[in-house]
Amino acid sequence: MANQVLAGTVMRIIRDPWISKVRFTLGEFSIFDWQYERVAMAIARGKITCEVGVKPNRELRSGLATECRYDPETRQLQFPDEQYGSSSGRQRFSIVHEATHASFDIQYGNGEGKEFLAIDDEAAAWLAQSVYMRSSPYFWDGPIVPGDPIELALMLADKIMAVPNYRDQGSPPYSVPPADTIALKQSVAKIYSFEGGAAGIKHVYHGLRP
Ligand SMILES: [Zn+2]
Repeated sequence: MANQVLAGTVMRIIRDPWISKVRFTLGEFSIFDWQYERVAMAIARGKITCEVGVKPNRELRSGLATECRYDPETRQLQFPDEQYGSSSGRQRFSIVHEATHASFDIQYGNGEGKEFLAIDDEAAAWLAQSVYMRSSPYFWDGPIVPGDPIELALMLADKIMAVPNYRDQGSPPYSVPPADTIALKQSVAKIYSFEGGAAGIKHVYHGLRP
């Protein structure tokens, strides 16, 4: 059942002033502030719903739990409880991460199902939440495990935000050089078990219902 408290939290976060600093392209993906506005509008119109209850993610290494997720099959943003994202910085960043996946569904999804390499999809979402984190006044409350995607994504975020004019409104979105994403993608592959035979796993987006 759609949860309006969570919908309000998510819309507030992805419409806050710091989201405007999230503007880059990474491989096939464009991540711009106005793509998050499209997510907010989809939530407002009920095309994407926010729900309590998280479908388990079989892609994660055993022992790791999915805290929240965007499920393209149901077009749901799923969270463990109604208060999610209301006080914790880390939870806010996770909301930006999941909203990034939702924005890809809106931008690229189609009836046949648009496929992306899961590694690329996750790397883009980790980088988006990291740029947001560095722009916002919020902190990652909790440990950052060395070698985890968040550590690598923050290193990359720091690098691209140090690019002259990156923060200027009106400058073109920064195009992340593919070579700069290798370490982040390796870390993603490791934590999600996208290695060996699973390296080619795809995420499929079907777009929103009309
Ligand atoms: Zn993700």
